[in-house]
Amino acid sequence: ARNSESSGSVGVDTNNSSQEKVIVLVIGGGGREHALCYALQRSPSCDAVFCAPGNAGISSSGNATCITDLNVYDAAAVISFCHKQGVGLVVVGPEAPLVAGLVNELVKAGIPTFGPSAEAAALEGSKNFMKHLCDKYDIPTAKYKTFTDPSVAKQYIQEQGAPIVIKADGLAAGKGVTVAMSLEEAYEAVDSMLVKGDFGSAGCRVIVEEYLEGEEVSFFALVDGENAIPLESAQDHKRVGDGDTGPNTGGMGAYSPAPILTKELQSIVMDHIITPTVKGMSAEGCKFVGVLYAGLMIEKKSGMPKLIEYNVRFGDPECQVLMVRLESDLVQVLLAACKGELSGVSLNWSPGSAMVVVMASKGYPGKYEKGTLIKNLEQAEHAAPGIKIFHAGTAFDSEGRFIATGGRVLGVTAKGDSLEEACDRAYRAIDEINWPEGFYRRDIGWRALPKKQYATKG
Ligand code: AMP
Repeated sequence: ARNSESSGSVGVDTNNSSQEKVIVLVIGGGGREHALCYALQRSPSCDAVFCAPGNAGISSSGNATCITDLNVYDAAAVISFCHKQGVGLVVVGPEAPLVAGLVNELVKAGIPTFGPSAEAAALEGSKNFMKHLCDKYDIPTAKYKTFTDPSVAKQYIQEQGAPIVIKADGLAAGKGVTVAMSLEEAYEAVDSMLVKGDFGSAGCRVIVEEYLEGEEVSFFALVDGENAIPLESAQDHKRVGDGDTGPNTGGMGAYSPAPILTKELQSIVMDHIITPTVKGMSAEGCKFVGVLYAGLMIEKKSGMPKLIEYNVRFGDPECQVLMVRLESDLVQVLLAACKGELSGVSLNWSPGSAMVVVMASKGYPGKYEKGTLIKNLEQAEHAAPGIKIFHAGTAFDSEGRFIATGGRVLGVTAKGDSLEEACDRAYRAIDEINWPEGFYRRDIGWRALPKKQYATKG
């Protein structure tokens, strides 16, 4: 199902009558993958969407057919499924199958696959790799040193002083970073990684990094190996509590556009960070295809962006607000990326705003109860125009009702002409949802909203 008309304009207004329709397989089963299924299914050139493993909400929404028994770590099984079903595009959502090399195998089998190879996924999988690339290609990032010996690491920390940042080299499910405000805290983090082995092999090397002060911003670009095009801006809220307090989570909500990411800042990020990264990866022999998601710090003292980290996939929940705003044919855009044909492609976005408020099980990101009943989702989706509820961690109980199975469970997403309107709609939907064991933040978007607007009910 390859398409010869994929370059050039890929907006929804493209004349699709002569286009071959594509069957798509999405790998993953969270809110991000639900949003991807939704946007892919809406694409004029999409024939059908499969999602493996998917979740209860993805299948009941009709956005994709879920294949729960396909082992996504078994590349041969995925390839055989693609051949049997005539899949013409695979989109890999989460980082783990990327780092495991699923894309390498699918590409070898001739299946167009959107996502980086295992080698390119090292941009996220190894902070040491990312920092080396920054050194070599002059990409602005925090000053750092890498250690395997705890006493040498502590010596360096003492010389540098606090605050200072300690990071496990490998993937640590978002928990491998300590922003240490004191030397003691920094030493403790070193011991936890290098002596106690709390992070397993991900923590056998630590990176000790300069503390950057400023405002954090996320930046997303689609990359085809040689070219990158920026996505609309989106900003998430990592902390669990209102006012950005409490422990870090996978993300409690997001909004798009994010006013902090001005056009001027966007072009600085493209010129100084994204483009040199893409060129550098290509020069190193590991071309990057997929979404580059840069975590940036806009440094207080210089006003300039520095790279904190790369992720090699869509952010979750930022993906939800981007996908409801995207008006281009996503199938065509992603196929263009797979073929190295993104140059000259421009994306169409709905002109208003979007917000997603995450509902999570009480106790998250710590321990939480599973199997609690969630009611009224259908009413919630009709509480106002422009609402779409993405499911992250739901299943059906024996009576076919939705139950919560994860920490983050729902992404209540709404579009509006303004961020205020999107916010109002998202919280109106939440007011309809009957799930006593769930909670959510009431202040998503506070940095970008007029001060008076906060949700009051709950
Ligand atoms: P990372 O997993 O590298 O994104 O780090 C998680 C969080 O730690 C980031 O979102 C920042 O809030 C914080 N962080 C990481 N590196 C630094 C740094 N060099 N200076 C200040 N804060 C940092």
